[in-house]
Amino acid sequence: MFRALLAEKIGDSTRTTLQEIDEARLPDGDVAVEVLYSTLNYKDALAITGDGPVVRSFPMVPGIDLAGRVMESRHPDWQPGDAVVLNGWGVGETHWGALAEKARLDGNWLIRLPAAFDARSAMAIGTAGYTAMLSVIALERQGVAPDRGEVLVTGATGGVGSVAVMLLARLGYSVAAVTGRSAEHGDYLRRLGAATVLDRQDFSEAGKPLGKERWAGAVDSVGGRTLANVCATLKRGGTVAACGLAGGMDLPASVAPFILRGVRLIGIDSVYRPRNEREEAWTRLGELVDVSLLESATSEIGLESAIDAARGLLDGRSKGRIVVDVRR
Ligand code: NAP
Repeated sequence: MFRALLAEKIGDSTRTTLQEIDEARLPDGDVAVEVLYSTLNYKDALAITGDGPVVRSFPMVPGIDLAGRVMESRHPDWQPGDAVVLNGWGVGETHWGALAEKARLDGNWLIRLPAAFDARSAMAIGTAGYTAMLSVIALERQGVAPDRGEVLVTGATGGVGSVAVMLLARLGYSVAAVTGRSAEHGDYLRRLGAATVLDRQDFSEAGKPLGKERWAGAVDSVGGRTLANVCATLKRGGTVAACGLAGGMDLPASVAPFILRGVRLIGIDSVYRPRNEREEAWTRLGELVDVSLLESATSEIGLESAIDAARGLLDGRSKGRIVVDVRR
């Protein structure tokens, strides 16, 4: 038996509880993993609460990422005892996931735990931090360099946002961080490396198709009007890496920034990324992340507390990264 959160469909609603589950119920897969740490990402919160259509089949063990140890393997790349990291591939959505003491997975989904991290710090990064890294790499590939001017990070106190601020500051960019909680968390964002802290309100009203050119690049985890306003205020040839929808799924924008300023909108999908791109992102994270600074942006909870924490995250009450120690 192992402990896991289990999301079940009761009528139209989702009910998630901590349960003892028989190993025989684990899904098919050629590698069995002892989960050491998981995390709570926005998507996990949607899966746990049922607020968004993340879970594709019930019952489902939520949890889109894990760090753990291989227990059994029929996959040529993995031996018992190997330290591994996983995120995405539909785990926690279509395949039983990581908010559990055990998981059975496809060995092709795993990557080796990078030498720079232990299981806990890898999950302090988690999907959110890895997505922040993919976003920063996307900006670099479009020529957004520190000498091009300020870069913007929206949803800055969130998981993706906090790590994006850290990474960009570490790379020498001047970072403007947009938050709805500047009074409460402005100092936190400055400690992570933000040069400027801006109010979310300035980006959430309906704006003009083109505004004053301000940003060389941006990492946007918010979407909606915020993303439209970011596009309208990027400098000529600037790039925004769009990775999230915390503020909305819509995009009430015009084509003006794209056709008049050559602005680029790059979509970031972390879920179905090929292994070589994942390894590249984790290698860069190993080079760039200051583990003690990351720790200051991380809180830790046990498995059962993840249910309440999910509601807090969706209500905008959490900050930074939340690591889940599945053994407590
Ligand atoms: P999170 O920790 O909850 O952070 C989201 C942040 O967005 C919040 O902390 C808040 O920051 C801001 N926010 C929340 N509600 C808002 C609203 N109504 N309007 C404007 N801003 C709002 O979540 P996360 O784990 O960082 O994920 C952020 C987003 O990225 C989610 O939509 C998630 O699904 C997406 N994501 C996508 C991928 C991918 O593969 N593309 C991977 C990971 C995450 P402030 O209080 O500082 O404003």
